[in-house]
Amino acid sequence: MSNHDNSFDASRRNLIKRGLLAGVGAFAVGALLHAQPARAEKAGKAAMLYQDTPHGTQTCLNCIQYVPGATPDAPGTCKVVEGTVSPKGWCVAYSPKS
Ligand code: SF4
Repeated sequence: MSNHDNSFDASRRNLIKRGLLAGVGAFAVGALLHAQPARAEKAGKAAMLYQDTPHGTQTCLNCIQYVPGATPDAPGTCKVVEGTVSPKGWCVAYSPKS
């Protein structure tokens, strides 16, 4: 085997490595883009153990995820649980406002 053959093999190996790396990179970027949903899905009430009643002093009204309704007593929405929620409701994702 000559030096020419060794350098040719090394070049070929480099090209294959670069091709594989480029392919892996393209796959990773594609996977990341595909993994980003157009909009976040909310969790179901049952899965979050949602209830229309308070859990001690914890209520949707004083949860950081709560989006108030038209009036203080009207049902609002939640950033993480689907559908409307009661201001007096609660679920396991409760997170107090600071
Ligand atoms: S995360 Fe739970 S407690 Fe907080 S607003 Fe949403 S449903 Fe209510």
